Amino acid sequence: AYDVLVVGGGPAGAAAAIYAARKGIRTGVAAERFGGQVLDTMAIENFISVNETEGPKLARALENHVREYDVDIMNLQRAAQLIPASSEGGLHEIKLENGGSLKAKTLILATGARWREMNVPGEQEYRGRGVAYCPHCDGPLFKGKRVAVIGGGNSGVEAAIDLAGIVAQVTLIEFDSQLRADAVLQKKLHSLPNVTVVTSALTSEVIGDGKKVTGLTYKDRNSSEFHELELEGIFVQIGLLPNSDWLKGTVELTSRGEIIVDARGETSLPGIFAAGDVTTVPYKQIVIAVGEGAKASLSAFDHLIRSSVE
Ligand code: FAD
Repeated sequence: AYDVLVVGGGPAGAAAAIYAARKGIRTGVAAERFGGQVLDTMAIENFISVNETEGPKLARALENHVREYDVDIMNLQRAAQLIPASSEGGLHEIKLENGGSLKAKTLILATGARWREMNVPGEQEYRGRGVAYCPHCDGPLFKGKRVAVIGGGNSGVEAAIDLAGIVAQVTLIEFDSQLRADAVLQKKLHSLPNVTVVTSALTSEVIGDGKKVTGLTYKDRNSSEFHELELEGIFVQIGLLPNSDWLKGTVELTSRGEIIVDARGETSLPGIFAAGDVTTVPYKQIVIAVGEGAKASLSAFDHLIRSSVE
């Protein structure tokens, strides 16, 4: 059995594995896809001390760093079920989709999240070429340009307010007849001169010139007419889905599926920790996931040295 078993090989999982291995304890990482969301992006300019890098390059660097240590890396392994220890100090079990099973004294759950997509033509084709999901990450790339934000919940309205300070023009598109964001955010949004709000609108297509986004079409749900907007960027803000379905009924989750963690990264079950985008920790960023992974790992180590000696 492992002392620390990390589930997930993104920035949070990689950091957790390195911190655990540096304590000289038996460490394993099981990941469906080592590298995580970082693999899906190109320009990364906010991983502090690295002025500029690319997703696949950073993913390789994370893996190389983990491989410097005595860590069992089990890539292409999807966890399907968590069976918590039946008694304090017992072993937790992770059942894999391939039928295998792994046991550990402590677990660090770092399975990340994924952005909900619009599922319209052009979205995949222009992903990273005008279609973006993270204003903190990609906002500055659209300086002085025109963008749309899809989604009028808190994250969409926050994104629109944020982007309005960087880009030339923001059009916020909401499916419903009204925005769902907190009143204080809506008030701020409506005070901005370069933001237009379109409600009752269903985005139907991302348009591009083969290289990058040039616009989008939406359907006015009242008149059923289609309209076209010319723009350079589209920020999709219709939800971030934590990869926690497989954990239902075990560690405590919020209604949105985020694993609830305390300040030390511990979940509702003793000896089971969690880190990164899959947790309640606010602001889903690489630099934050890395820090949270390190923290959860140190907490797991602390738990181990306080547990009964066999
Ligand atoms: P993830 O990176 O999501 O990694 C999760 C890991 O868990 C993966 O290895 C996955 O395969 C694995 N996994 C999932 N389910 C299971 C399972 N059941 N069993 C086993 N393994 C599983 N952040 C920035 O700071 N700067 C940026 O410029 C930036 N740009 C981005 C661009 C895009 C297009 C995207 C999608 C995200 C971007 N982000 C950026 C966000 C950043 O990538 C995430 O905040 C970060 O990757 C979170 O790390 P994580 O380790 O928590 O999760």
